[in-house]
Amino acid sequence: MARTSARRRLVLLSGRREAATDRPRLLSPFLLDVLAEAAGGPVREKDLATPGAVPGLRFLPLGVVDDDLAIDGAEVLTRALARDPSLAARLASRPDGLDRAVDRASARARDAFTAHDGLLGRSPARCALTARPLSASRLERRAACAYRAFLAEGLGLEAPDDPPDALFLDALTLGTLAHAALERLASLTGEKGLGVVTAPALRSVARAEVSEFFRELETDPPEPLLDAAESLLVARVEAVLARERDRKERLPLSGAEVRFGPKEPLSPRVSLASGEVSLAGQIDRLDRDGDAALVVDYKFGAPRPYGKKNAKEYRIAGGERLQLAVYALAARELGASRPRGEYLFVDREGDVSVPVPVAFDEDETKEAVDRFVAALALLDEAASRGLFFPKTTPFASRASHCGSCDFDAVCGPGHARVTNRKREAERERDPGNPLFALEELR
Ligand code: SF4
Repeated sequence: MARTSARRRLVLLSGRREAATDRPRLLSPFLLDVLAEAAGGPVREKDLATPGAVPGLRFLPLGVVDDDLAIDGAEVLTRALARDPSLAARLASRPDGLDRAVDRASARARDAFTAHDGLLGRSPARCALTARPLSASRLERRAACAYRAFLAEGLGLEAPDDPPDALFLDALTLGTLAHAALERLASLTGEKGLGVVTAPALRSVARAEVSEFFRELETDPPEPLLDAAESLLVARVEAVLARERDRKERLPLSGAEVRFGPKEPLSPRVSLASGEVSLAGQIDRLDRDGDAALVVDYKFGAPRPYGKKNAKEYRIAGGERLQLAVYALAARELGASRPRGEYLFVDREGDVSVPVPVAFDEDETKEAVDRFVAALALLDEAASRGLFFPKTTPFASRASHCGSCDFDAVCGPGHARVTNRKREAERERDPGNPLFALEELR
């Protein structure tokens, strides 16, 4: 019926591998019948792999399309134009989007940023720092690549949600669970702090967290898997507890996941040229005694860019590490005029989780806050001038972050080379550009 109904072309789809077992799959007898009828004789699977072996039939392996096999006429045209753009002048009617594509290609070839890559020359209202409450992580993302912030906040682009891999605890998920476990433990110990947590209490909280995690995913993993997940979580949290047991000059624990923001009793604000910005977020842990305070940010990963000793005395790392500065500002707002800060990284050495504290004393914390306010002013100036150009290599890691960016496809293949060339030209043209000045705020 399908064959007799088709007016110009009959497209038949057939999976080559079983989805469930990933084994090769036999072509269906129905498909082979239709192919044999169309070809006037029996057709074997290997015949389909040889172009032209069966007259009138074309076998198109979806997902493994050969470079030289265009899928339709539009693709034939696109390829011809890519090979020789001057052919566009000979087209009777220009296809949709061709002019935009030609504009973009010529903008990409120039040695300067353009509106196609973040040099907007005007300030989009949605990207203004005053447009919404600002969290430290939102600002860090903007410092790491202003173009990405423009795509997400200015244009509202977003990647589709990946379905969670139900039985796999990746580093990010483990970090989230560790934060939740530490919050639970803090509520159990009260002022005495995390240094007093016992091994059974840790195990029981870790078990509760992983069980809740799987329950929310509506999966019921076997007991050994729950045990394994619990052990992974215990190892990470235990590294934090080990640091707390060793800590000198302890202050009473005052709160975990302490919220601040416009709708909270605690609402720090900063005045900028474009107006007042509200800061929002939650402090992982706050220890406090009168005007002395310690704000702690747990980070489950390598201590970048600080390293184990922070020998280069980084504070905000080009605007990409702002959490402590923002938390210290919030603590000041609370009345703690002498805050200190600590990033408590939990790194992996082989299979072992080890704590790597990066601590700032009172003066260093003040330095971090001052640099944060300077960074905010530079980001504010960049937004007002419509400067949102891309940055492929963040300060904090010194390695490209584009492979894990949701908008990699927007920037396109080979964009790192193009972007770096344009950045150098921009640096010469406008040495005082606020986005470059931000990178100097260590
Ligand atoms: S792919 Fe790279 S340069 Fe492009 S928006 Fe993402 S992080 Fe920025």
